[in-house]
Amino acid sequence: MEKYDLIVIGAGPGGYEAALEAARGGMRTALVEAGEVGGTCLWRGCIPTKILLHTAELAKEARQGGPIGLEASDVRVDMAKLDAHKDETIRGMAQGIEGLLKRQKVDLYRGKGRVLGPGRVEVAGETSLELETKEILIAVGSTPAPLPVKGIGLEGVLSSDQILRDPRPYESLIIVGGGVIGMEFATLYGALGCRVTVLEALDSVLANLDREFGQSLRMILKKQGVEIHTSARLEEIRREGEELTCLYTEKGAPAQASAQAVLVAVGRRPNTEGLFASDWAPPMERGRIPADANGRTGLEGLWAIGDVTGGIQLAHAATAQGLNAVACMLGRAPGQRLDVVPSCVYTSPEIATVGLTADEAKKQGIPVQVKKQAMGGNGKTILTRQERSFLKVVTHGETGVILGAQLMCGRATDMIGEFSSAVANGLTLAQLAGVIRPHPTFNEAVWELARS
Ligand SMILES: Cc1cc2nc3c(=O)[nH]c(=O)nc-3n(C[C@H](O)[C@H](O)[C@H](O)COP(=O)(O)OP(=O)(O)OC[C@H]3O[C@@H](n4cnc5c(N)ncnc54)[C@H](O)[C@@H]3O)c2cc1C
Repeated sequence: MEKYDLIVIGAGPGGYEAALEAARGGMRTALVEAGEVGGTCLWRGCIPTKILLHTAELAKEARQGGPIGLEASDVRVDMAKLDAHKDETIRGMAQGIEGLLKRQKVDLYRGKGRVLGPGRVEVAGETSLELETKEILIAVGSTPAPLPVKGIGLEGVLSSDQILRDPRPYESLIIVGGGVIGMEFATLYGALGCRVTVLEALDSVLANLDREFGQSLRMILKKQGVEIHTSARLEEIRREGEELTCLYTEKGAPAQASAQAVLVAVGRRPNTEGLFASDWAPPMERGRIPADANGRTGLEGLWAIGDVTGGIQLAHAATAQGLNAVACMLGRAPGQRLDVVPSCVYTSPEIATVGLTADEAKKQGIPVQVKKQAMGGNGKTILTRQERSFLKVVTHGETGVILGAQLMCGRATDMIGEFSSAVANGLTLAQLAGVIRPHPTFNEAVWELARS
């Protein structure tokens, strides 16, 4: 029987990065993957959505380019070619990861991993085998949660996994769920010229972020023809000829909408069914394995990271937690700050946030000062013709230390790194004000805000 220092189950951005780090640190490491190396992020999440969004946004910009001298009004997206490009890019990136694993001498086992007991893992692939180890790291991620309504199994009712596997040029699409995933798909299909309707049960889209984001995005998408219904609860889906009809209640009143396809994006559930073969299992909450910032589950020799822990469901959070877990196994100080995790939404303009909002700080009894900068006067925002853009910074009312930032502007997802560093290192706005930003950039708005 093969013996390891560490067996990682799940090769998403949490698992494969942890395996590489462990191997670099001298641990004999195995990685068990039931599907594809790269996980949800590479095959069904971050990467395919952004590949599709990139082309769709280019097409939208070209179509609207008349006023800036770009005559390409009949531009169209060849979905079959775009899909092939997406698959080729993903396969290339997966090969890159497999190459890294090989170079670091991480043994990759293809099959479903199951924890048999302390230090014992079974891999059920073409043939089953058992492995022994000192440490087990669970990084099995999550999958789309089903919605228990009538008609959910109809053809054309899709999860994000299904729509990304076979993206089609729909003329009309209903998106159930106005969270981050739902709003990225609304941006994507809106830019492709599809008639999009969003049904969100809560009273705002992007409800877990600063309220201004949801309100601004709603106005921007409305101009592009995307219809957003909030306080809209889906009751049933019916097939009517070529279309699917969603019956829902909006603020209590019955309503309906029809489209070629329905995307259900209402959350994710952890992949823990059948993962533990014996009583040796950590305490779980609705299938999730709670763990701290270093992946500790409370069970000696068993660690858990990423989506399966039910914490922040983002690729970089999974990676950071994995690196911390490995550092602990190696007896080193964990280096990743899980208390400062930036979060991004790839809409147009982009949205990014880190740290506390003003409301969150106030709830914690922290005196705050909020500074907001509309970016209508920012050169780069004007010349790239961005929609309504702004940045908000929340500082401690007495010390001036930056507690959080909320951005909605061009390249917000890149700019948020500056604020992540500021929050993590306790910088003040006055310190940011003394640092020169290049011109013309979106980033200049940070300097303007800091000096205002
Ligand atoms: C549409 C969409 C868009 C997203 N966009 C972004 C984004 O832009 N940025 C961002 O940060 N996050 C994004 N996310 C979230 C991100 O994909 C996840 O947070 C991230 O992939 C979680 O990483 P993980 O390592 O915990 O798990 P996963 O990436 O889910 O990987 C888990 C792996 O474990 C494998 N597995 C499961 N069970 C077993 C088993 N028993 N044995 C062996 N292998 C097993 C699975 O096959 C999978 O490969 C997006 C998600 C979706 C769905």
